[in-house]
Amino acid sequence: MADSSSANFDRDYESGFPSSRVRLIDSFVHQQWIWDTIPTRCFDFVKNYVTSDRYLSDSEVVAGDELEFAKSVNVSGDGKDAWIFDVDETLLFNLPYYELHGYGSEIFDEESFDEYMYLANSPALSASLSLYKELQQLGFTIFVLTGRSEPFRNATEANLRDAGYNIWERLILRGPSDKGKLAVEYKSEKRKELVDEGYRIRGNSGDQWSDLLGYAIAQRSFKLPNPMYYIA
Ligand SMILES: [Mg+2]
Repeated sequence: MADSSSANFDRDYESGFPSSRVRLIDSFVHQQWIWDTIPTRCFDFVKNYVTSDRYLSDSEVVAGDELEFAKSVNVSGDGKDAWIFDVDETLLFNLPYYELHGYGSEIFDEESFDEYMYLANSPALSASLSLYKELQQLGFTIFVLTGRSEPFRNATEANLRDAGYNIWERLILRGPSDKGKLAVEYKSEKRKELVDEGYRIRGNSGDQWSDLLGYAIAQRSFKLPNPMYYIA
C-alpha cells in the first residue's frame, strides 16, 4: 500500500501540478503518513507554492465554499450559531517565520517559534479575513480556537487585531490542563464545551485535520491548504 502510494505520489510530482500535489500531501497525511519535516525533494515545491498566488487562490477557493455554505444557514438570531477558526495558517499566515526556517524542511523549533509569536507580526491570510468579516455580517458568533497556549494570549490578541480581526466571542488557548493533549483531543473537548453551552457549531475552518476531526465536529468543516507541517 505504502509503496504504490509513493509511486503515485512521485508520478504526480513529476507532472508538476502544484495544487494537485498539495491535495495529495493532505490526502497522505490523512492516512497517517506523518513526518517531522517535509521531504527534501519537496522543498522547492513547498517554497514556491506558499510564496505564490496559487496558495492564496487555493485559500480563496475554500473561503468561497465556506461563504456559500454560510449563506445557506438559517442564522437564528439567538447568537448561538457559531463558527470556529483556527489561528496559525488559518487566520494568520506565518510566512515571515517559515521563510527563515525552511518552509517546513527544518525540524520544528519551539523556542524560535515562541519568540516569533511574541513579535505578533503575522499578516492575515487574506481569504480568511474577508470570510471572517462576511460571517460577522451574516450574524455568526465567532470563536477562535488555537493550539497556542495561555502565555501567548496577549500576543495572539494583538496580532489578530493588527491583522484586521476585531471581534470574537472568545479566544480559546491551551490552558495548563490541556498540556500534552493531542490537538485533535484538545480541540474536540473545547468544541464539546461550546455545544454543552448551547452553541450550534455551523462551520469550522482550519489548516490541520486535527482542527476539524474528533468529536463535537461542526456541521461543515473546511480544510485550508498547508503543505509545510502536520499536527496530530
Ligand atoms: Mg493551524
